[in-house]
Amino acid sequence: MNVLVVNAGSSSLKYQLLNVETREVLAKGACERIGQPDSVFTHETSEREQRLTLAILNHRTAISLVLGTLLANEAQAPIDAIGHRIVHGGSFFKRSCLVDEDVLRKIEEIAPLAPLHNYAAASVIESCIEVLPQVPNVVAFDTSFHSTIPEVAYRYPLPEDLCEELHLRKYGFHGISHRYVSLVVDELTHGAAHRVISCHLGNGSSLCAILDGRAVDTTMGFTPLDGLMMGTRCGSIDPATVTYIIENTDLNAHDVDMIMNKKSGLLAVSGLTNDIRDLIEAAETGDRRAKLALDMFAYDTRKYIGAMWAVLGGVDVLTFTAGAGQNSPVIRSLALAGMEPLGFKLDPTRNAERHKEPWKISADDSAVAMYVIPAGEEMMIALDVHDIITGTATPDGLAAVSDDAAGDPSGDA
Ligand code: AMP
Repeated sequence: MNVLVVNAGSSSLKYQLLNVETREVLAKGACERIGQPDSVFTHETSEREQRLTLAILNHRTAISLVLGTLLANEAQAPIDAIGHRIVHGGSFFKRSCLVDEDVLRKIEEIAPLAPLHNYAAASVIESCIEVLPQVPNVVAFDTSFHSTIPEVAYRYPLPEDLCEELHLRKYGFHGISHRYVSLVVDELTHGAAHRVISCHLGNGSSLCAILDGRAVDTTMGFTPLDGLMMGTRCGSIDPATVTYIIENTDLNAHDVDMIMNKKSGLLAVSGLTNDIRDLIEAAETGDRRAKLALDMFAYDTRKYIGAMWAVLGGVDVLTFTAGAGQNSPVIRSLALAGMEPLGFKLDPTRNAERHKEPWKISADDSAVAMYVIPAGEEMMIALDVHDIITGTATPDGLAAVSDDAAGDPSGDA
């Protein structure tokens, strides 16, 4: 089965056409800078690479361009089904599901919680249905995996009526990535790993504590801003900082939100870049701020590993994934510095290796087994699509959607 996996961001649309049985990527590409006069469309197959600069007005135009390009090659690689990554499923969507009118309406209802992403994703799904009415669409949510987090961890200690009215709570993100990691760990350890910490360290970063395959806590919260300091996001800071900035400057709430999401984190501390590769290089040549930024990132990661260790009551497996997590031995060793008393002992030779498949980086006498697991969000979505379409989705005790009153995305998980 060939599955087109579509990931609509706020101003981008990335895609991969995957064969689920062979796990081969048949085509991939992206539309970037959507809405600008100089948008970029890239398309790559084993035979050719294409790059166009043109005006892509909106996500509907973007998906039409992608589908048109793929359909031109339909004889070689037909699209059997489409899987869409949706950032926010609220408290409503607890697992991936087939798209119908009702599902589409719910995604739009939840959209105020992630306005830049969910509306774009909904318009992309509608376009797919229009262009390819015979091809089924499945949605996978970045929040779903976290729906098993218990109330003690997801509840915000704010007045209950406010939480209910505004649907305030920890939702967590990167769930598709953490779930993929959890499945791979299960395969690698033949089901022997009960307590897992998954570290997704990229431009956006989060940790997830997983107990017997189910998320029990994560570092991101109501939005992806919470938790670790990230590339351009500040992560957890004293919430009173926000009101203090607004009361003492000309900045309004929107400005502060933009600063905390786009101008903070590694970029702000280094004053250079949010790219971890460049920061490592700059720190090596003696740049003090670049070194501080990396030290703070590693410190945060270490601190949250400790927090997740406490949540799980010990750890069997710790994993690293995403851009920096899977590619940077420096980040991994900085993050784990001084963690041997808790059972995390790296093998420096294994840590310096680089593979396409998951590999072990812990020493043989490490109490916690540690692995690098290359990110597999697209494959996770494609597997979900396959299982849903073929009716082989294994029941995991979770309903696809919440049992709460119909249409009320606020109902707690
Ligand atoms: P992602 O958001 O998962 O695409 O990850 C992007 C981040 O990963 C950027 O900060 C990159 O600098 C970082 N990254 C990618 N490759 C490497 C590498 N070889 N060493 C260090 N950081 C890397």
